[in-house]
Amino acid sequence: MMTRPTWFDTSLEGSLLEHISPADEQGYFVYHLDALKKHLAELQQQDVIKLWFAVKANPLSKIIQVLDNEGFDFDVASSGELTQVLAQGISPDRVLNTGPAKSKQQLESFVKQGVKTFVVESLNQLQWLNEVTIAQKVVTKPIVLLRVQLQWPDGEKNPLGGNSLTPFGLSVSEWQQVQVSDYPALDICGLHIFQWGNMLNNEKMYALWGQMVAPLTQLAKDLGMKLKILDLGGGLGIDYLEKGHSLSWQQIIDDLADIKAQAGVEELWLELGRFAVAECGYYVVPVVDRKVNYEQEQLVLAAGINHIIRPAITEQPFPVTLLRTSTEREQNFDLHGPLCTSMDKLGHLALPQDVEVDDSLVFGFCGAYGFTESMPFFLCHQLAAEYIFENGELIEIRAAQPASTYLA
Ligand SMILES: *Cc1c(COP(=O)(O)O)cnc(C)c1O
Repeated sequence: MMTRPTWFDTSLEGSLLEHISPADEQGYFVYHLDALKKHLAELQQQDVIKLWFAVKANPLSKIIQVLDNEGFDFDVASSGELTQVLAQGISPDRVLNTGPAKSKQQLESFVKQGVKTFVVESLNQLQWLNEVTIAQKVVTKPIVLLRVQLQWPDGEKNPLGGNSLTPFGLSVSEWQQVQVSDYPALDICGLHIFQWGNMLNNEKMYALWGQMVAPLTQLAKDLGMKLKILDLGGGLGIDYLEKGHSLSWQQIIDDLADIKAQAGVEELWLELGRFAVAECGYYVVPVVDRKVNYEQEQLVLAAGINHIIRPAITEQPFPVTLLRTSTEREQNFDLHGPLCTSMDKLGHLALPQDVEVDDSLVFGFCGAYGFTESMPFFLCHQLAAEYIFENGELIEIRAAQPASTYLA
C-alpha cells in the first residue's frame, strides 16, 4: 500500500488530479507559493544571517516576487538575471553580483544600472570595477567582496574531501598581490567563499566553515582590509535521495552566530538557492509506455532531461510518487525520458506495481534547478508550462510552447 512521501504537500493533490490540459501532456512544473511563503518566513526568524536568493535556482517572476516580499535580496550572475530581478520592481541596491565571467562591459552596465555590491572573482574584475566606478563618477563606493578558493593538503584533515580546481575566485596567494589601498574607488570590505554542495549534515557543515575562518581572517590582514562581511555562499542541502538526512536551520543559525564571532565580522551573508525554493516545486509528467526489458521494468515518460536534467548530471534523482492512490505494492522502475540518448534517465525508483500508460508521476524538490537548468531544445519537444499554486488555486504563468516557437 503506497503512502504519500513527506515531500509531497497533499493540499495540491486535488488540483493536480483535476488538471487535464492537452497542452500539458508533455509535462509541467508547479510551485506551491503558499508553502514557499511559510518556509521563507521561517528562515527569516533570526538576526544572525543576511539572506540573499541565488536567482539561478529559479528565476521565475512569481518566485522572485515571493522572495522579495519575504525580505530576501538577490544574487545575480548574469545580465539576464539582473534584468529579470529589476523587472519585478526590485531596487538595484538590493542586488549582489557574483560569477566568474564578468567582462568590463558587463561591470560597467551593472554599475550604470545601480548595482552597488560585487563579489569579485579575478584581478581583472577588480581592476575593471575600479576603472568603471571612477569613469562613471559613482558617488558611493561599491561594496566589494573578494572570492577566495581554498585548498587543503590531501588527507583526512581535508574538509572538502578533495581539491578540485574551479574558475570561482582566486587562491590566497593570488589575492595577496592586492592591497585594498590600491583601489580607492572601491570599498573592499568582505570575503566570499563557497566551494561545497548539497551539504546535509550540520556537524560537517560547521566543521567546514570553522576551518575557513583562520585562512580568511589572515588574508584580510595581509591585504590591509578590515573584514566587515563574510559571505559563505549556498550549498545547504536537500534530501533528494530520501535518506532521512536534513539540516536543522536552528543549528545553522547557532553555528553561524559562532562563526560570525570567531571571524569578528559585522555581517554574515548566505546566498540560498535550493534550500530556499527546492521543496516548493513539483514536476508532473505522464507515462507514455511501460515494458519489461531483460527482466527490468521500464517506464518511458513524455519528457525527461529535456525538462529536468539534474538527475543525469548529478546522479541524484528527484524523488517520485504516483498521482493517484494505489493499493498495490511498490517495485523499482527505470524511468526514461523521450530523448534518443541513454543519458535521458530520471532514476531507478519505487512506484506501485499497477502504474500504467497515461498515469501521471509527480517529482519532488523541483523548485530549484528545474526548468532553466534543462536542455529543452534537443529533439524538438515542447517547453514545459509553469504554474503556481496560490490560495488553493492552480494558475498558469508560462504556457507550454511547441518547438515551432523556437526553431528557425
Ligand atoms: C549557485 C550559487 C548559490 C546557491 O547554491 P545552492 O546550492 O542552490 O544553495 C549561492 N552562491 C553562488 C555564488 C552560487 O553560484
